Amino acid sequence: MVRSDIRGLTEAELILACQEIGVPKFRGRQLFHWIQQKAVQNWDEIKNIGKADLIKIQERLILVPLLQLKEQVSQDETRKFLFELADGQSIECVLMDYDRVKSRNRRTVCVSTQVGCPVGCAFCATGLGGWQRNLSSGEIVGQILDITHAMRQEDPDFQVTNVVFMGMGEPLLNYDEVLKGIQILNQEAGQNIGMRRMTISTSGVAPKIRQLAQDNPQVGLAVSLHSANNEIRNDLIPINRRYPLEELMKACQEYTERTNRRITFEVALIAGQATHKAAEEVAQLLQGQLAHVNLIPVNPVVETGMARPDGAEIQGFARVLEQRGIPVSLREEKGTDIDAACGQLRRQWESDEK
Ligand code: SF4
Repeated sequence: MVRSDIRGLTEAELILACQEIGVPKFRGRQLFHWIQQKAVQNWDEIKNIGKADLIKIQERLILVPLLQLKEQVSQDETRKFLFELADGQSIECVLMDYDRVKSRNRRTVCVSTQVGCPVGCAFCATGLGGWQRNLSSGEIVGQILDITHAMRQEDPDFQVTNVVFMGMGEPLLNYDEVLKGIQILNQEAGQNIGMRRMTISTSGVAPKIRQLAQDNPQVGLAVSLHSANNEIRNDLIPINRRYPLEELMKACQEYTERTNRRITFEVALIAGQATHKAAEEVAQLLQGQLAHVNLIPVNPVVETGMARPDGAEIQGFARVLEQRGIPVSLREEKGTDIDAACGQLRRQWESDEK
């Protein structure tokens, strides 16, 4: 029998698995707490479950933490982790701990949802390597658990408060596993992370935005817009050829109508491209849409040759949106002294290993 990954099971599934192997129901609840709340990494750490029951459980389920290959810590407390999966593939995730430093008590983890990515955005190091496979819900949840475990060595009270599905991969192309991961992370006996504290970021997979509107799991939605011009967006985000702006915006309208939730539109600012005209196009596209724009000056990636615009370009872009009544914020620069752009650490590791 193929053993399931215990970290990819909801509390109800774990209880059911216990019942099926003749282990009392309450053991399932205890196990879920040990795995998901205490983030234990091996069976020996589980203290209140008898040996006989644990042996039966191990015959049915596996507990395999991700192997930490590398960790980089930036001056602003952004920590980037490179993890190896059971099949030898590697993924990145990032802990943004700077809010703790500012006493805002917010610890956000940016998780990966795929190994590599099929979308191939022009500014992204992950897309350069292509797509390998989807992550399972256990591997998605595992990133939060293993970061929690590592951080609790320094701070026993460490708790992740927010999750963004913005790391390697397109989350909506791995829809079922991502939604199951969200369900597990939300469970009260586990990480208990509020639905509204989790955000899915998509490059614009219109049919899945519609599905998300129907399922309405109450999570946040961010759309990587980057340009309001189809020709430019085709080059930046190739999935735009399949779901051009007209179709994307229709799906976004439907999403806000059904959920009454505001969408965050991410706009990467690239030196030389963050022009007044580009800002006007974004403002026009978003007129009438319940929206918020997040401006992100790009992290430089050597392979793509893209650079961060200067302060005047960034401020000018923001001003145009504000004047048109669109709420706008500028993402704080994080981890610029480490390989913080998505996929950079993994590529660096792979080239060092060759
Ligand atoms: S930015 Fe996101 S969607 Fe685009 S290639 Fe990178 S990981 Fe994929």
